[in-house]
Amino acid sequence: MAAPKVAVVGAGVIGLSTALCIMETCPNCSVTILSEQFSPNTTSDVAAGMLIPHTYPDTPIHVQKQWFKETFTYLFAISNSAEASEAGIHLVSGWQVFKNTPKEELPFWSDVVLGFRPMSKAELQKFPQHQSGQAFTTLKCDCPPYLSWLEKRLKAAGVQMYTRKVADLWELHGKYDIIVNCAGIGAHQLVGDKKLLPVRGQVLKVHAPWVKNFIRDGDGLTYIYPGIHRITLGGTREKENWTLSPDPGTTKDIFDRCCSLEPSLWGAQDIQVKVGLRPSRQCVRLQREVLSQGGVKLLVVHNYGHGAGGFSVHRGTAKEAAGLVGECIAALQGSSSKAKL
Ligand code: FAD
Repeated sequence: MAAPKVAVVGAGVIGLSTALCIMETCPNCSVTILSEQFSPNTTSDVAAGMLIPHTYPDTPIHVQKQWFKETFTYLFAISNSAEASEAGIHLVSGWQVFKNTPKEELPFWSDVVLGFRPMSKAELQKFPQHQSGQAFTTLKCDCPPYLSWLEKRLKAAGVQMYTRKVADLWELHGKYDIIVNCAGIGAHQLVGDKKLLPVRGQVLKVHAPWVKNFIRDGDGLTYIYPGIHRITLGGTREKENWTLSPDPGTTKDIFDRCCSLEPSLWGAQDIQVKVGLRPSRQCVRLQREVLSQGGVKLLVVHNYGHGAGGFSVHRGTAKEAAGLVGECIAALQGSSSKAKL
């Protein structure tokens, strides 16, 4: 059979990393990315890009841990290479602090991040409103540079990229053998997935180069995540809110909450406000599907619904999706050799 033609719909962190994994596992494929938006206009560009996993209630923990581990290992290698600053990947140390000590002593990812330990009394003195805390070192992606770095690698591997909104996956039938759906929240409309809902997040990107450590309130709502050039201050989690325009009252609230954790932020400058819709689902949809219309078949692989944790697990889910694409190719090759007989 001729080189299989694969279309990846979506150019956020999931679409780009999935396309890259497909090229790595199936170099003779022809891969095209079709996306309504590219960086810097995706949800992935808004994210803080911290590697602190979010838990998907309907995905087994060992699977989530494996996705996180693969992602951490991949990005750790980049952070230790000469590519680190171009790719926007760096290690960052800091604290997760709790007003009430959490029931669960160790999160499932505690042995994947580096140097996870309870905070010392001296460290806790910095947070008089908090009772306990955890100190660790993790990785952070500065999102727009990381997406550009992925795009550069894809172009070098011969992947074509086109700006196009896909209204129905059947539009791609005939031109492509396999469709990979990485449309993020766009999958709500594209495949009519009612289990996929937006969780609106508003963040501030500020200039405060003296803040070097991350601080995350244990409830996950208030956080300070230093990047290479700017710091992300968050945040909000508003279920089923589709509004993309920033809310000035929320901006003030986020800034006040972050300043109460790190008072030196009162001196922050150049405050930019961003909003993104997390593609939330009880579990990531990582699945093969054969669509059928009047006896005609369309092979689809879904990889969407990463909610609040897409950066934390993107490489792991991309590898799994590439494996599913490999299974589709094997099925196509099987049917084309049967046809020859
Ligand atoms: P997107 O980035 O939205 O990409 C979807 C792509 O599909 C886009 O290119 C879009 O244009 C395209 N598309 C959609 N519909 C169509 C269509 N019909 N036809 C063609 N193209 C289409 N995660 C972490 O791990 N760590 C964090 O610190 C973190 N912080 C966050 C902070 C905020 C404020 C927000 C909002 C999210 C955060 N996240 C974080 C979550 C993370 O951003 C998401 O999980 C991740 O970006 C999802 O990536 P995606 O590629 O699926 O979606």
